[in-house]
Amino acid sequence: MKFTEFNFLPELLEGIDASNYETATPVQEQVIPPILEGRDIIASAQTGTGKTAAFLLPVMNQLLKNHVDGQTGALIIVPTRELAIQISQHIEGLSYFTNLSSIAIYGGNSGDNFVNEKKALQMGADIIVCTPGRMIAHLNMGYVNLKKLKFLILDEADRMLDMGFLDDINRILKAISEERQTLLFSATMPEKIRQLAKRILKEPIEVNIAISKPPEKVVQKAFVVYETQKFELIKMLLKQTKYKNALVFCSKKQTVKQLTRDLKKSGLTVDEIHSDLLQAQRENVLSAFTSGRIPLLVATDILSRGIDIDTIDLVINYDVPGDGEDYVHRIGRTARAEADGIAYTLVGEKEQNKFSAIEVLIGTEVEKGKVPEALGTVPEYLPRKKRLTDRKPQRKFYRHPKPRGKN
Ligand code: AMP
Repeated sequence: MKFTEFNFLPELLEGIDASNYETATPVQEQVIPPILEGRDIIASAQTGTGKTAAFLLPVMNQLLKNHVDGQTGALIIVPTRELAIQISQHIEGLSYFTNLSSIAIYGGNSGDNFVNEKKALQMGADIIVCTPGRMIAHLNMGYVNLKKLKFLILDEADRMLDMGFLDDINRILKAISEERQTLLFSATMPEKIRQLAKRILKEPIEVNIAISKPPEKVVQKAFVVYETQKFELIKMLLKQTKYKNALVFCSKKQTVKQLTRDLKKSGLTVDEIHSDLLQAQRENVLSAFTSGRIPLLVATDILSRGIDIDTIDLVINYDVPGDGEDYVHRIGRTARAEADGIAYTLVGEKEQNKFSAIEVLIGTEVEKGKVPEALGTVPEYLPRKKRLTDRKPQRKFYRHPKPRGKN
């Protein structure tokens, strides 16, 4: 479906054109028309499906059509600062030819930002993207007026609840108009999301684009080793694989720090990102990575969701992630857009069962890569027997009907 078929305003079509979007993705096809008709939406769609533009475009179109000066028209609540920044960049691109104003409101930055945010809230920026905690800080000061809000969007709602933001969300809900249109996006649909949806959505249209499977374009390989062999192996893999941007995931920030130090010592240009860094430091590291100045980044799961960097062509899981959902999100960082990507997972001797459970969830046995002989003997892959054939996936994705879109 072409974007011209949605009847968007010309200035918005210009922004779409400038962003090089030609045809709508499945989630966009399914949610844009009902949003334009004023319906509430509950959509399960992961990052990478085009979900951000799916809600931004119709919301912007309606705000432009019924523009009210000095009133915030749309509030987008997201779990992390990184996602807030990314969405606000999306807004800037798509609204470039319009006069819509927007601001991202998130914690961890300087006092100057707080003053700017306060100003934007008082003057009523058309679109506000915020993390829950920072918004509460402003609400507590008493100057926020969201009573005329037309759109409330909750993005990555499952993650927000996982991070314990439910109370904050409830508090924000109390401050905003009941007469709004509400759009809820979530990668998964656990019961707590359904309950939240029941409470805050009015006769919503339900859209399901979620996939619990990694993108097909990603070549996945697992290397079964002893924990003590992982460092030598990652050095070899990084040496023999051609990449533009490689992202290495570790589950703990201590591991991130140690591994970054060790990789630096072995002569690689590498940096790290985790929650111990200040917001400004995180932004610097990310921009060095996206611009290609630093080709290799070691990260905690802080980057496993929502972050959209087109040039990542190699993801390495230095350890096996906690569950299949995290695995799908981590390796979904590569093979974005039209590009191909490689995802390697280093499976230590104690992580075999965990990895086998992930294989069950994604429904395929991941190819086991040959470990270079120089590393010596490696363990056999012997997870708890026959898991693959005996068990059906039972984790959070079990509620999903079959995906309708191919994204
Ligand atoms: P998202 O799922 O919102 O994170 O979007 C993933 C990526 O797809 C982003 O880089 C978007 O800019 C891009 N994108 C979104 N919609 C389209 C479209 N219709 N055509 C091409 N790229 C798109």
